[in-house]
Amino acid sequence: IVEIKGVNKSFGPVQVLRSVDLSVTKGEVLVIIGASGSGKSTLIRCVNGLEAFQEGRIIVDGCELPCEADREVGEDHKLMGVRRGVGMVFQQFNLFPHKSVLENVALAPMRVRGKNKADAEAVGLRLLKRVGLQDHAHKYPAQLSGGQQQRVAIARALAMEPHVMLFDEPTSALDPEMVGEVLDVMRELAAEGMTMMIVTHEMGFAKEVANRVVFIDQGTVHEQGTPQEIFDNPREERTRLFLSRVL
Ligand code: ATP
Ligand code: MG
Repeated sequence: IVEIKGVNKSFGPVQVLRSVDLSVTKGEVLVIIGASGSGKSTLIRCVNGLEAFQEGRIIVDGCELPCEADREVGEDHKLMGVRRGVGMVFQQFNLFPHKSVLENVALAPMRVRGKNKADAEAVGLRLLKRVGLQDHAHKYPAQLSGGQQQRVAIARALAMEPHVMLFDEPTSALDPEMVGEVLDVMRELAAEGMTMMIVTHEMGFAKEVANRVVFIDQGTVHEQGTPQEIFDNPREERTRLFLSRVL
């Protein structure tokens, strides 16, 4: 469902991704690990078109994302088409502070999908229930804990009925006692068959939930394999070194 082939990406003179090849199949949970600055966020942002790449190909759900040179003014609809099928959850929850929890979840389906308010709110309530927040629908983000806000952000992404969900360190900004409730929601999504690409430092979670773990080092896919292969028996010295520092 996601095909990344030979992707190169630079910020000015600094090359951040180097001939990255990676594919994700439908229903697969891919966890991306790697040191700070290795290019994990950049990679995941390329997949939903938030960053442009210079060379290579990225195909999501049958739609090819244009590389930087092919991104023309007025061609945004192509990007929008891809983005619509991709849900994204960031480290910072980015909720609209002046809108209620339910409005946050219902807004994009109304604006982007043209759903009417009643339908969007009905779906929104169902999703809030799914993340355990049905009783908080009419509160404002500031009235919720960090873990609750992140669960709203997940419900908001799900409201667009994505075929792929991208997570960039969704628990890194949370107090430790709130990490579990967010990981629980992600675990359930995985069990329901959602295709997911997850950048995380939660190695226990990765071990348990990932179908495949990818170690990114200096912008390249240095090693990938099952959680057992990567965590218990890494082939590459750099993978071993990284894991010895984080485990
Ligand atoms: P972290 O674990 O700290 O989140 P990361 O693996 O997500 O790190 P990226 O954020 O993808 O790393 O950054 C990769 C490299 O690209 C870094 O050297 C960073 O400084 C650089 N970089 C990222 N975004 C930009 C930008 N908008 N402009 C210039 N350089 C950038
Ligand atoms: Mg990052």
